[in-house]
Amino acid sequence: MAFSLSPELLTQPTPFYHYDLALLDRTLAALQQAARPRGFQTHYALKANVNLPVLARIKAAGLGADCVSGGEVQRALEAGFAPGHIVFAGVGKSDAEINLALAADIWCFNAESVEELQVLNGLAGAQGRTARVALRVNPNVDAHTHPHITTGLEANKFGISLTDLPAVVTQLASLPNLELVGLHAHIGSQITRLSVFAELSQKLNELQSWLEDQGHQLPHLNVGGGLGIDYVQPDEHPIPDFEGYFSMFEQHLVRRPGQQVHVELGRAVVAQCGTLLSRVLYMKQSQQTRFAILDAGMTELMRPALYGSYHHIQNLSSAAAETQPYDVVGPICESSDTFGKAVLLPSTQRGDLVAIRSAGAYGEVMSSGYNLREKAVAVYAG
Ligand SMILES: *Cc1c(COP(=O)(O)O)cnc(C)c1O
Repeated sequence: MAFSLSPELLTQPTPFYHYDLALLDRTLAALQQAARPRGFQTHYALKANVNLPVLARIKAAGLGADCVSGGEVQRALEAGFAPGHIVFAGVGKSDAEINLALAADIWCFNAESVEELQVLNGLAGAQGRTARVALRVNPNVDAHTHPHITTGLEANKFGISLTDLPAVVTQLASLPNLELVGLHAHIGSQITRLSVFAELSQKLNELQSWLEDQGHQLPHLNVGGGLGIDYVQPDEHPIPDFEGYFSMFEQHLVRRPGQQVHVELGRAVVAQCGTLLSRVLYMKQSQQTRFAILDAGMTELMRPALYGSYHHIQNLSSAAAETQPYDVVGPICESSDTFGKAVLLPSTQRGDLVAIRSAGAYGEVMSSGYNLREKAVAVYAG
């Protein structure tokens, strides 16, 4: 179904984010339909989108929360996620953030270094608590995605490297305020090659066997997130291939009896339900290039400037059948403030309404006040 705005939103001041909560609900239903019969539990990675109406639908669908900062732990609690369904990951958790999460009695910390385990043990002891931890390992599996969103290679800062793992496991014996409950990995984002998840499963199988040999039975495995979406054809593929994703783990991950397996998905849950709406401020023509200058820029949607990401762009105002190439750019004083080069659009002019699609994940959350820009509002449909 092609994107369209309801008539009353055609006069809404731009730029603004539009969220299709009905599509979000359909996505969540498809997700749970694929996950539940196979016995997988899904956490939502809050960092993709933290808007309360979005979180309310996600919580209502029965997902838990995966947080990477104290602020996100607080937001998850505010949105009504039970502490027992909140996990806290991140390579640099501050003492204040750890204390907040301990006091809230969240379900699990995904720990990423020896030093973090020592600090967590100390802070938990000071609060008279035991912290449940999963070891986030860096399994050295190539996610075959953009280098900036690859996290599971030796060269990346995330997780405990496999060479350090024996030392970490030895250390655990001397950290009485920690309870090892599982193994965690998250190897990257926007992963579209599903065989990557088979490879990850095999690595986790080996690690699990090794940990059992060391005397550690793991009640939980957490395979992270990263399932990609179709940025090129959002209307043809509004819902990601959850069946393919979960069946990879079902086939390749060796689960122990009664063991719980968790996945943490962000992008795949919320990306397609969000659209950034903007108006063309000016048209400008250089020797080689026709520019459409929008009133939205990298301050509203940073992904193209940050990773060179592709977003499908549509002119909602022009009905012309023929298309021409335009460089679609924002108003910010940076050359990287470009949404797309040589984008084929129907004849475009000042005042046209433009939709930048698949912007629900890592869009509004990354917005900034650079150039003293005002924050774009969010509107909700469905
Ligand atoms: C970002 C993140 C996720 C979610 O990644 P997506 O690609 O959005 O699914 C999951 N787990 C951790 C630890 C993360 O940092």
